[in-house]
Amino acid sequence: MDGAGQKLRSTPATAGTAVSTTCAYCGVGCGVLATPDGAGGVAIKGDKTHTANFGRLCSKGSALGETVSTEGRLLAPRIDGRDADWDTAIALVAERFSATIEKHGPDSVAFYVSGQLLSEDYYVANKLMKGYIGSANIDTNSRLCMASSVAGHKRAFGTDTVPGNYEDLEEADLIVLVGSNLAWCHPVLYQRIAAAKAARPSMKVVNIDPRRTATTDLADMHLSVAPGGDVAIFNALLAHIADTGAIDHAYTNAHIDGLADSVAAAKACDPSASGLTGAELAEFCALWAGTQKVVTIYSQGVNQSSAGADKVNAIVNCHLATGRIGRPGMGPLSVTGQPNAMGGREVGGLANTLACHLDIENTEHRAAVHDFWASPTICEQPGLKAVDMFRAVDEGKIKALWVMCTNPAVSMPEADKVSAAIAGCEFVVVSDMFGTTDTAKLADVVLPATGWGEKDGTVTNSERVISRQRKVLPPPGAARHDWQIVCDVARAMGHGDGFDFTSPAEIFREYAALSGIAGNLGRDFDISGLAHLRDTEYDGLKPVQWPVTRNRTGGRFFGDGGFFTPNGKGRMLAITYRAPASTPDSAHPYRLNTGRVRDHWHTMTRTALSPRLSQHMGEPYLEVHPTDALALGLKPAHLAEVSSPHGKAILRVLVSDRARPGSFFAPMHWTQDTAPSGRIDALVEANTDPVSGQPESKATPVAAKPFDATWYGFAVSSVRPAPVSEYWATARVGSGWRTELAGSTPVADWEHFARTLFDVAPDSMTTLSVIDATRGLARVALTQGDRVIAALFAARDPVAVSRGVVANMLGGDRGDAILAGRAGADRPDPGAVVCSCFDIGVNTISAAIADKHLTSVDQIGAALNAGTNCGSCRPELSALLANARRMDAAE
Ligand code: SF4
Repeated sequence: MDGAGQKLRSTPATAGTAVSTTCAYCGVGCGVLATPDGAGGVAIKGDKTHTANFGRLCSKGSALGETVSTEGRLLAPRIDGRDADWDTAIALVAERFSATIEKHGPDSVAFYVSGQLLSEDYYVANKLMKGYIGSANIDTNSRLCMASSVAGHKRAFGTDTVPGNYEDLEEADLIVLVGSNLAWCHPVLYQRIAAAKAARPSMKVVNIDPRRTATTDLADMHLSVAPGGDVAIFNALLAHIADTGAIDHAYTNAHIDGLADSVAAAKACDPSASGLTGAELAEFCALWAGTQKVVTIYSQGVNQSSAGADKVNAIVNCHLATGRIGRPGMGPLSVTGQPNAMGGREVGGLANTLACHLDIENTEHRAAVHDFWASPTICEQPGLKAVDMFRAVDEGKIKALWVMCTNPAVSMPEADKVSAAIAGCEFVVVSDMFGTTDTAKLADVVLPATGWGEKDGTVTNSERVISRQRKVLPPPGAARHDWQIVCDVARAMGHGDGFDFTSPAEIFREYAALSGIAGNLGRDFDISGLAHLRDTEYDGLKPVQWPVTRNRTGGRFFGDGGFFTPNGKGRMLAITYRAPASTPDSAHPYRLNTGRVRDHWHTMTRTALSPRLSQHMGEPYLEVHPTDALALGLKPAHLAEVSSPHGKAILRVLVSDRARPGSFFAPMHWTQDTAPSGRIDALVEANTDPVSGQPESKATPVAAKPFDATWYGFAVSSVRPAPVSEYWATARVGSGWRTELAGSTPVADWEHFARTLFDVAPDSMTTLSVIDATRGLARVALTQGDRVIAALFAARDPVAVSRGVVANMLGGDRGDAILAGRAGADRPDPGAVVCSCFDIGVNTISAAIADKHLTSVDQIGAALNAGTNCGSCRPELSALLANARRMDAAE
């Protein structure tokens, strides 16, 4: 059976023909030109015609072609760990969901979906759960990303509208970045701002973030806000706006409710909760209030909070009070994390919304959707949001769970508990590209899904632009598109009429037609102008900003009022400061802030396939302020054991004055598969915002102490090493793997340890070793013929060999030289990779700065090419230049 006999409209692209598509990663939504080579590979270029990026791509987008191999892909359905055919798998999933619903009711089942899904996938999953099963128990991992922005928008605007667009970044005179490391997490938007500021140096940038990040290097002002202190800053700003006559009374009188109460609440707020000095606050308030064209960008630092929705409304209040919204160069701008987080919001992927920005609680909206779908039922109340959904799984209330295209066993807060809950659930289905994710390993049924480059559909970026993702490669093995899998299961459950789709274009037309009904009901999301696209028009659809109706295409909202509340007025809210939900105590005295690194994405299922992307950050780490490191006895490059009441992790210590004293930062990406002791979300407490349900991922109280290592190790190998030590973190290098290791128990026989680590039989290879037991030093190389297959370096302190040099010797014929662990005079050590595109290390760049007297990032680019392709490393190049200047000044 092939998709129940479906006609698959789209065929893979012709070799050598560039296909216009969209990046798979962040919510910037960059346009990509993908050219298949006919042998499974794809060449990638930025699309100069796409309005999000005009040809730019960051390091992740540039490396998309390195992540499309079929290595490790799930090629057939699996039931209880054994390959199965699609008919059997679909029948089993349908039968178990139907039987559970019949016995325990619709709310006994749940779907947990993803901002990686395309809108067409999302639409049918939402339709099945809300209109045919009759529950709203479908929630998306976007709940962890931007649910607080959705809630804040709905409270202020009456619906979830992003008022402005990316052009505002070039038009603004002041850009305020709140809780947003744009340089690493939305690099192309960062590049747009950097280019605008370079062209017009009078433009000011303020960065509000507890720590200094790569983004801070662009800022004229950095405000190290206390964890959770954002409301106190923006309440102070609103009070200043009111006190200095900066309120736009013409705008507020005509278009806004709630001004007086919100100003009174702002004035009652204690500004010291911001963690800033009076002078810092005064300078920021004067700059903001005195600049008409101001854009305030916010992302996870605002959203991932137990007061996330309040933070959003505190920001939006300031824009509404001054009328600085919906006009060129001004407005609040929520930047979403995922490629289709916005699309998920639009199709109703959240448990508390219907499709097309219609509300579950609104009887008229429910009836309209019910009628349109002609479905047997419609959900009557909001379903379980992500954290509550997995609590219900843990309590046995959810008895059948389908996880699509995401990895909650790693990414949810209290991840160990979530993992155990999934393992204990009566029936779990995972549809994914890979059967080896931490979540897929817990499933009863794993269904092979297509991924980026193999599927067709639409995504919406952070500025409301809908773009096509297009197929350039055939599906591997028996993999199917997510929309097909959902429709197959729906039909097997007896819902053939509602799911007889044969292409994503058909789904899109239905979705667009439903949005027209939403538009008639006064909603913002209306793309009914696209409801009659012919298949060829859908195939050729160019990026377009919504709304798309007979009368309007795209544009900004709210410059002249026109809010989506019952009286058409925007709402300012009286916002009161609340501290993060949990307070540090003597057992857990520090705050843990989690986030992303530059070159990895989520749980690394795709980015870890690229050796290039894996070099920038080869292992998980803990960023610690020098004062805290001294107090805790944490030494640079040694390991720390970090713990909360929910779990613990072992992480490499990165001592940096960029950290805020009292707070640690750790990245979120590592998994059981890549660094079992680095799963940071195991520690994160599942406190949620009472309005948005979004978890607080940046303020968990934790403790830290040195990990009691008796030895440290580093290994390179052409085979994947086994996880044999307490600390083990592996990443790809060009021809194999590089692995960091450590243990608290002494190793008696290093040659035996090496063979276990590399999983080789004693007689199959030649072992070369240098062991100095007195000094705790060991170096072991395994060779086959004259080829170096693996090498292990161990010492009592962190191993000081050059990672790059040793990795480059893997596969060569210099078993004795690799044991030396040093670059020869002919191969200088390039140091840790800074520029992923051209594989240029920190030592190479620093040497060029010194030898050639380079003084600008552009000069480094001219000398070495570094920073001249995707530009993601340009902030780090700036930091190296600044460092060189400091050293020169000190001499
Ligand atoms: Fe992709 Fe980078 Fe663009 Fe985000 S900024 S969409 S990750 S290329």
